[in-house]
Amino acid sequence: MDRQTEFVLRSMEERGIRFVRLWFTDVLGSLKSVAIAPAEVEGAIAEGVGFDGSAIEGFARVYESDMVAHPDPSTYQVLPWRQAGRSTARMFCDIKLPDGSPSFADPRFVLKRALQKAADLGFTFYIHPEIEFFLLRSLSPLIPLDQGGYFDHTTLGDGTDFRRDVITILEQMGISVEFSHHEAAPGQHEIDLRYADALTMADNIMTFRVVVREVAVSQDIHATFMPKPFSEHPGSGMHTHMSLFEGDTNVFYDAADQYNLSKTAKQFIAGLLHHAPEITAVTNQWVNSYKRLVGGGEAPSFACWGRANRSALVRVPQFTPGKSSSARIEYRAIDSAVNPYLAYAVLLNAGLKGIEGEYPLPEETEDEVWRLTDRERKAIGIHELPRNLDEAIRIMDESELVAETLGEHVYEYFMRNKRKEFAAYRQQVTPWELERHIRVM
Ligand code: GLN
Ligand code: MG
Ligand code: MG
Ligand code: MG
Repeated sequence: MDRQTEFVLRSMEERGIRFVRLWFTDVLGSLKSVAIAPAEVEGAIAEGVGFDGSAIEGFARVYESDMVAHPDPSTYQVLPWRQAGRSTARMFCDIKLPDGSPSFADPRFVLKRALQKAADLGFTFYIHPEIEFFLLRSLSPLIPLDQGGYFDHTTLGDGTDFRRDVITILEQMGISVEFSHHEAAPGQHEIDLRYADALTMADNIMTFRVVVREVAVSQDIHATFMPKPFSEHPGSGMHTHMSLFEGDTNVFYDAADQYNLSKTAKQFIAGLLHHAPEITAVTNQWVNSYKRLVGGGEAPSFACWGRANRSALVRVPQFTPGKSSSARIEYRAIDSAVNPYLAYAVLLNAGLKGIEGEYPLPEETEDEVWRLTDRERKAIGIHELPRNLDEAIRIMDESELVAETLGEHVYEYFMRNKRKEFAAYRQQVTPWELERHIRVM
């Protein structure tokens, strides 16, 4: 038995754990969970737990529906909100086929495969997300919990104690929070997790969503990660800060450069900008995601980069002078309703393409790109992000990069599912249309 398994068994005993939940994620980014009894855990770690994958989004063709969930003991954590006689812990799982090969449908495997490619080049990929979400008093009608604005200090009961409860639980589960604040829209909040390697962070984001929902339920309110719940307010992005390290060295940093950015970092940015339109279906996967990327609300709609420019897709944040480890770039299109495993995989591979192909970095854009005309944007080589899910999947359909990154099975399933989503949306007559057109003669 290895040390991690020993630790899990000892902790379960000491903490009086009654249930262990095995967590994994489907292709669309929903968390799946199966609970096992403590007596089963040792066997589950050694051999996995079989389940029928055919009912899980994106998992199996019916004839290959037998799957095995292999819990990763390094992800063992006690769930702080389940206590007193119901103590529960969780572990994330890798999903395999009965013959032991990795499941082609497991998003965690998609990310692991991309990270392995980076590791072969000597790189570790670090992520720091700014997660935005809304707290609501009621879903129907939609009523935000508070009327606060950016960085407002709201009173107790208006979301401040919500954030405190969430952060307390996250820290008990070993997830560090860098800071948190009220966001620009009423009821909108942001919590930023301290950076971690991309696989740990994708797991952390799945945990984060569970914690936010649990705390909301306990306070009798609603939390949503929907990208754009209110037409009249900004949406919820999940701006993602990224860096590549070689051992302890941040390869994005170069003291001699005017931006303190290395050639590698610039090529990585160039890769992101070049491939942005084709990866957007993954980083912004819902019909509703595109309502956020319409220009304004500090969400990007064009593939350009800048430093202070908050309309840019990629921003290079000011970092502490001399603190090379904090050199990083920020990708701003991605939203809070993403599948983080798939999104980090496509972001990484887009950046690596830039490095491998030595893509040149276009000029920095200082202007608010929304204010330029189409022609002006074209003249400086800035392309537009897809304007809706239909455009996004059409562009993705031509993408070798995304096909390679997701693998054939996830790619096919994802395309099929998203085509269906857009087809269903097309049929809807919206309140906006009724209001505009009902009196048209
Ligand atoms: N909510 C904005 C978005 O959708 C971001 C606002 C901010 O953090 N500057 O991207
Ligand atoms: Mg922020
Ligand atoms: Mg923000
Ligand atoms: Mg940001």
